[in-house]
Amino acid sequence: MPKSGRSRPVRGAGRTSSRLIGPAWDAPSPFAAPLAPYAASDATSRGRRYAEPAHPYRSAFQRDRDRVLHSGAFRRLVYKTQVFVNHEGDLYRTRLTHSLEVAQIGRTVAGRLGLNQDLVEAICLAHDLGHTPFGHSGQDALNHCMRPWGGFEHNLQSLRVVEELEERYLAFPGLNLTFETREGILKHCAPGNAAGLGELGERFIARRQPGLEAQLANLADEIAYNNHDVDDGLRAGLLTVEELAAVGLFRRHHAGVRRLRARPGRRVLIHEIVRRMINEVVTDLVATSLHNLAAAAPGSIEDVRVRARPLVGFSTRIAAEHRELKAFLRHGLYRHERVLAMNRQARHVIGALFGLFMDDARAMPAAQAARAARQARRYGAAARARVVADYIAGMTDRYAVAAYRRLVDPRLDW
Ligand code: MG
Repeated sequence: MPKSGRSRPVRGAGRTSSRLIGPAWDAPSPFAAPLAPYAASDATSRGRRYAEPAHPYRSAFQRDRDRVLHSGAFRRLVYKTQVFVNHEGDLYRTRLTHSLEVAQIGRTVAGRLGLNQDLVEAICLAHDLGHTPFGHSGQDALNHCMRPWGGFEHNLQSLRVVEELEERYLAFPGLNLTFETREGILKHCAPGNAAGLGELGERFIARRQPGLEAQLANLADEIAYNNHDVDDGLRAGLLTVEELAAVGLFRRHHAGVRRLRARPGRRVLIHEIVRRMINEVVTDLVATSLHNLAAAAPGSIEDVRVRARPLVGFSTRIAAEHRELKAFLRHGLYRHERVLAMNRQARHVIGALFGLFMDDARAMPAAQAARAARQARRYGAAARARVVADYIAGMTDRYAVAAYRRLVDPRLDW
């Protein structure tokens, strides 16, 4: 439960503050603001579902970050598609490199806003743990298969991974992360689902905001994928520099780089533009959020949570430019024929595996088959289907392809 709503500036993180270890080398970065009163801290945390003693030299959020990093679901992100299927090329973003870029942007901004960098990092690293193989087409396919049994949503699945599916502790299921990290992982939630999520679901019903670290992680995700999808789309040849010049943010930095050198090499030109776009958007996010925070002057994280509107955000101009870029990517990249062809293949693989495991749970490994039988006995068909969905969602792209070849059709060409 929340301790008091009283604001008090907290340096370090409660009882496990770095001051306990004390030497000069852990002084805060000169570029990072001290932890602000509205930041999350050990002292004001709503804590974990299963009580645990504090660690002697790691804050609660450092431990959350470390637990995510050591989880099996995190390691599997390396072979999960962001937009391009993993084996299409070694340089494309995967869910893992995407998550690392999100965490980097999140930490940088958190430092400037006086927010809890470790919490932001934990949320960013965990935010995509629930993604299926094959990116959004995988999620759409699994959602379609699961429609009679409550559907499938990757964001809710990320929460399931950290609350239930990771098996690493004797004392509890999942990773037993703090409320603040789980609050950040659950970015959005339909009101129908929110009712079943206890205190995590309350804000979606009351239309309130999460803590600032969660607000920031959400935007860091957006900044990372918008910009790296430009880079990956150009690399794949699905987008061209000329087409992208239709987008204001890109056009401005393209012109800026060309003013410095008339004919830069293509790779350098692209990297310079993407780097400058990220820098401008991030700098705007810092300035606008600092302005919002100064105007609202929240005294604590609870003060942030009772608001109807987020305080971390872009200026009107950058928000509009970001939307323009997003719309361009939706048409030019996500609906490109080559991406759509991959999506069709992905839907077919996911649909076939789901049908197969629903017909015969023993086609899954023994542990999943036993769990499916147990859940069916206790809770019925929907619980059994959820076990199948959990198993498929946990697959990497290449694991899913191998399973399809072994169980359905060895001739799959992918
Ligand atoms: Mg993401």
